[in-house]
Amino acid sequence: MSTKDDKEINEFHLNQLASVGQIAAGIAHEVKNPLTAVKGFLQLLKESPADEYLDIAQSELNNALATLENLLHVSKPDAEDEPYQPIKVAVELEVLFTLFQDQIYRVEIQRNLRDTETPIYGKKNQLKKALFNLLKNAFEAIPQKGTISVEHYATDEEIHIYIRDTGVGIPPEKLKMLGTPFYTTKPDGTGMGLTQVFSVIYEHQGKIDVHSVPGEGTAFHIRLPKMTNTPTRGVINLNVEYAPGEEIRHFLLRNQDVFEKRLLAEAVNVKEKIHEIQRVGNIDLLSNAHKLVLYIVDGREHEMISFARKEGVSWAKYSLTLAFKLEWVQTVRRVLWDFLYNYDRLHSIETQSNREQFFELERRINHMMDQFLNHFFITYTECKDQLIQSQREMVNNLSVPIIPLTPNVCILPLIGTIDEERAALIEEKVINHIGDTRIEVLILDLSGISSMESSILNQLMGLLNGMTMMGCKAVVTGLRPEVVKQIIRSGISFEKSIITKGTLQQALVDFLHESRRQTSDCPFCCTCTNRRLPT
Ligand code: ADP
Ligand code: MG
Repeated sequence: MSTKDDKEINEFHLNQLASVGQIAAGIAHEVKNPLTAVKGFLQLLKESPADEYLDIAQSELNNALATLENLLHVSKPDAEDEPYQPIKVAVELEVLFTLFQDQIYRVEIQRNLRDTETPIYGKKNQLKKALFNLLKNAFEAIPQKGTISVEHYATDEEIHIYIRDTGVGIPPEKLKMLGTPFYTTKPDGTGMGLTQVFSVIYEHQGKIDVHSVPGEGTAFHIRLPKMTNTPTRGVINLNVEYAPGEEIRHFLLRNQDVFEKRLLAEAVNVKEKIHEIQRVGNIDLLSNAHKLVLYIVDGREHEMISFARKEGVSWAKYSLTLAFKLEWVQTVRRVLWDFLYNYDRLHSIETQSNREQFFELERRINHMMDQFLNHFFITYTECKDQLIQSQREMVNNLSVPIIPLTPNVCILPLIGTIDEERAALIEEKVINHIGDTRIEVLILDLSGISSMESSILNQLMGLLNGMTMMGCKAVVTGLRPEVVKQIIRSGISFEKSIITKGTLQQALVDFLHESRRQTSDCPFCCTCTNRRLPT
């Protein structure tokens, strides 16, 4: 029977996405109830004179109920907050095979399950559902007869599961599509099976590999981390020193080394990076952690915020990995609570602390921690945004490189494609540049442009006219035949004031000559006294 809460959860999820699994769960429920009733009647019947078929009926019924129970497990709506628990995957696999009973006349299941007692730690229903989806795909991949082999074993750190089938296989180019929501090659497929599989395996810090040969079959290889022996944390009695009546601050300072040891034991990933972070960003994580907890227990919020901001800047500036920061701060929070517990344990022998005081402390400490994280992340993001903005400006400048040749002559070589955004940028930069420098000639070299849409051509013509209006000669060079054809087709004609030259070099000869004649230093000119031809 479903409780009211169950029902609410079902409906809530159905609103989001009525997946096949959820519908199956509904059906299973519907079927299970009458079956349970039938089971009761059979029991009653047995008490009257025996009938040989009654036993058979009862055992079949029990099988049906067990199957339904399993189906309910794998098709339960995804409970996002499903608790983590120890799971023996091999045992679950055995259970799942029973759901495919109706297939064994055509598909043989070969099991090679070793290390069956090795537990992992995870969300049981989610994992069962993932394995069910993989098995289901394997069965569906085998059109007629075939074999599915399932292997399970453990290594030092992981368990390995292989699900191999002798089915149709997957073409290499389709492999990368696996896991994409709604990708399916089946007429009545949902394309949600592997999406669920991938997300659950990743959520459990696992890995998944697929190997497939079209016409021969497919193998899914899954690795999941074994359960470690660290118990789910209760309170921890630390081996700390305590001087009667001392404040938390002094207690923390006195036991600084214990604090560090616990931090390092807890922050497994950061531990390996501590030296690298120190080297790259000159950030001493350990001494910063001490600083942070002292700010917190002292309630020095303003100082802590400016400290958080400083850290945010460094973290952004040196591109340090955010995940490490997160792990580190979370560890600091946990270890600080371990210390507060131990302080309370020793301290309350003298002074009875009450619940109210505890919750007051909880608020204060967690508020400070949250403030630290907020300010750290806000600063980090601001800093990164600024960086991105300045890089964007740099790219913009590079995409419109106005190069001065003489005080009067500039050249703008354009390469690549010009879309509307870039055309607008060019217009803006060129007009401003002419306005600022009052140059007399701007050579636009288009030899690096192979095509231009007519709307962009129009925009460019507008710019050339605008330049002329400002008293700057517009010289266009290097028009490629393709572009010229586009100009002809679009019916655009060049204004008389716009000068065109076949190549950039021809334009340089003409305009540099003109502007350098006064200095008698023209490398191109035939009429200058100091005639120097380019070598
Ligand atoms: P669905 O089963 O609803 O199509 P899935 O996400 O479970 O959705 O699978 C997506 C697609 O991946 C399938 O349609 C199929 O083309 C391919 N696929 C998955 N598993 C196998 C397999 N074992 N053998 C061959 N193809 C597979
Ligand atoms: Mg599927």
